[in-house]
Amino acid sequence: MANLFQSVRGFNDVLPPETALWQHLQTVAAETFAAYGYGEIKLPMLEHTALFKRSIGEVTDIVEKEMFTFEDREGDSLSLRPEATASCVRAGLENGLLHNQQQRLWYAGAMFRHERPQAGRYRQFHQLGAEAYGMTGPDIDLELIALSARLLKRLGLSNLTLELNSLGSSDARAAYRAALVEYLMRHEGALDADSKRRLQSNPLRILDSKVPQTQALLADAPTILDALDDESRAHFDGLQQGLQDLGIAFALNPRLVRGLDYYGRTVFEWTTTELGSQGTVCAGGRYDGLVAQLGGSATPAVGWASGVERLILLMKAQGVVAPSLAPQVYLCSVGDDARREAARLGERLRDELPGLRLTLNAGGGKLAAQLKRADRSGAQVALILGETELAAGAVQVKSLRDTNNTSSSQQQTALWPELKDRLAGLLCASNGN
Ligand code: ATP
Ligand code: MG
Repeated sequence: MANLFQSVRGFNDVLPPETALWQHLQTVAAETFAAYGYGEIKLPMLEHTALFKRSIGEVTDIVEKEMFTFEDREGDSLSLRPEATASCVRAGLENGLLHNQQQRLWYAGAMFRHERPQAGRYRQFHQLGAEAYGMTGPDIDLELIALSARLLKRLGLSNLTLELNSLGSSDARAAYRAALVEYLMRHEGALDADSKRRLQSNPLRILDSKVPQTQALLADAPTILDALDDESRAHFDGLQQGLQDLGIAFALNPRLVRGLDYYGRTVFEWTTTELGSQGTVCAGGRYDGLVAQLGGSATPAVGWASGVERLILLMKAQGVVAPSLAPQVYLCSVGDDARREAARLGERLRDELPGLRLTLNAGGGKLAAQLKRADRSGAQVALILGETELAAGAVQVKSLRDTNNTSSSQQQTALWPELKDRLAGLLCASNGN
C-alpha cells in the first residue's frame, strides 16, 4: 500500500529556503522576458492525448513511453502535459492568436514525464519557455537565443556552451535521413537495440544515442550540415552572423537533433559539464510545420524551453545566492497587553515599510524562548515590547547579527514613531545595499 507520508516517485517538494532561489529565478525570468516584449501565457496542465501524439510525434520517447495518460470519467484520453509547445500552439489556434500575426509569448510551469528519476531528471519538473510565431527570418531565432543567453547570465550562471545545428528543410531532412540510414545499415551489426529499432521508425534520433559504441559509429556518419538546402543554409548563415554580431559564442554540433519531431532548421541547446549526464539546461529550435500540422494555416514558429530544476542545481553548484527572504525583524512581546499592541505595531510597520519582512512572535513564551526563535528565524533585529516599553510607547531594538559591537549598541530603546526610520536604516545597512 502507498505510504501516505511519501510523495509519488519523481514528484518532489521544494522547501524554504531553496524556494527563495526559485522565486529569484521566476522574477529574473519575468523581467528578462518583458525586456524583449514577450507576454506571459498560462496554459492548462491537462490536454487531450491526441494533441501530444500529433505534435510531438508518435514514435518519440515522450509519446511512446513517458506520458502520464489516463481516461477521465467520460472515457476521454487525457495526458498531463510533457511539454508546453503543443499547448501553446493549441491555445494560439483556439484563441485566434496565430493567423497573420506576430506573437511573442512565454510560459512557466510543471511538466510531467514518466522517466527514471535521477539528479536533474524527475517525473514532475518545471520549464520556463518562450515561443515566437509569424516570423520566418533568422532575426527571431537570434532574438530567442540572445534572450536565453541574457537570462542565464542574469541568473549568475557561467561556463555554458551554446550548441547549434540546422536540420534543414523537410526535403533536405528526408534526403539526409536516407543517407544516414544507408550508412547505418552498412554497420547495423554494431548498433544498439534501441537504435536498430529507430532505424525504421525515427533514424535521426539515433544521432542522439548515448550508447558509446553507437556514438563511435556516428563519428563517421554523413552530417546534416552537408545536406542543407540553399534556403536553410542562408538562414543558418544569417543566424551565425547575428550571433557573432552580438558576441554570443557557439559551437556547431551537426549531431544535435531534438527529442521531438516537430523541429526543422535551427536547433540549439545550452549545455554544461557541471551536472553530469543531465547537462542540457535549455533547448529549442524552429518548428515551422507544427501549426499547420495541428490544423492552422502555415505559421513560422521558433522557441525554447529551459529546465528549472537543472538551472537551480547549476545555480547552487556555481554558488549563486538569491536575495534572502528570511525575516528581517522578529517582534517579541511579553504580557497580554503588549501582545495586543505588538500585533498592531507589526501591521503598522508593514504599512510604513513596504517590503519589510517582519515575523510576529506567536504562541507566547518567555522572552528568552522568543529570542531563541528570533535568532533561528534568521532575522537581523529583534524588537521587544514588554510592560515597561508599552507604558513608554517604546520598544527595545536588539541587533541579532553584529558580533563585533558593544552590548550597548546591540540593544537600544526606540519610541514607536522613530521605529520606521530606525529600521529602514538598519535594514539598509544589513542588506549591504
Ligand atoms: P533530455 O535529453 O535531458 O531528456 P529533452 O530533450 O527530453 O532532454 P526537452 O523536451 O527539450 O528535453 O525539454 C527542455 C528542457 O527541459 C531540457 O533541456 C531539460 O533542461 C528539461 N527537462 C526535460 N526533461 C526533464 C526531466 N524529466 N526532469 C527535469 N528536467 C527536464
Ligand atoms: Mg528527454
